[in-house]
Amino acid sequence: MGGTKILAGVVDREGKVLARHLVESPGSSEEDVLEALDASLESLLDDRIAAIGLGIPSNLERGTGRVLRATNLPLDDFDLLGHVRTRFGLPVGIENDANAATFAEWKLGAGRGVSNLLMLTLGTGVGGGIVLDGALYRGWAELGHIVVLAGGPPCQGNCHGHGHLEALASGTAADRAARERWGDASNARELVERARSGDDGARGAMLEIAGYLGDAIGSLANIFDPELVVVGGGFGEAASDLLLEPAQAAARGQALAPADGTLRIVSAELGVEAGLIGAALVGFDALDEGD
Ligand SMILES: [Zn+2]
Repeated sequence: MGGTKILAGVVDREGKVLARHLVESPGSSEEDVLEALDASLESLLDDRIAAIGLGIPSNLERGTGRVLRATNLPLDDFDLLGHVRTRFGLPVGIENDANAATFAEWKLGAGRGVSNLLMLTLGTGVGGGIVLDGALYRGWAELGHIVVLAGGPPCQGNCHGHGHLEALASGTAADRAARERWGDASNARELVERARSGDDGARGAMLEIAGYLGDAIGSLANIFDPELVVVGGGFGEAASDLLLEPAQAAARGQALAPADGTLRIVSAELGVEAGLIGAALVGFDALDEGD
């Protein structure tokens, strides 16, 4: 689920997407969103479906999965899991969207086979996810809201912090850098294209973004000691050729030994469907746990 669309799908245990249903603009009230969600689930439901998994841009209450406050969706302090379980009578799992994408990349994408990884999704905002000791961390993993520039620019949306990674290394930050250079019609896409064709200003702006990303990753590596850091999200994947190498160098510059020589940053592999596939895996978890 997202602010501008709901993507639903039928997914098997191997992460294969067998059917899809996309709703544009799910609406501006709780009632509209629930109606759109129920209708999209309804449209895919048949005898094959064993469980439902939900991925949502929101912090969830640990233990209960209650939606506390969704970003860009009119859901506030709401038991979405209970709603879907009552409506459809199936096991239901719910997870933050970036946690769900992390789960998918770990099980089926760029993080296959490791026991410890971090993921950052660079899109409109910056989401995060953590796999530690072979399990997805099911609590808040708001890795986009760590300070990388003291006294830096204000953060976005519901966040009142300053100098957070999200304010400096998201697609929105890249849009802003482009507008500052080439006017209001410019955007992150132009920044990336100009950087690729050798424009010095664009290359500098991308290096600055990569530097903040790398500083954040180096700091996180000193806490979590991941084998691998996966970078995904619309902007992260579209600009991976410009971001990952300098970010890795910056990260190694902050990381303690031996991560200062071994820390690896790689691109996500599952693309825009990581969230959908991860939500499905969360549904299978609920099924297996008998929820
Ligand atoms: Zn923030």
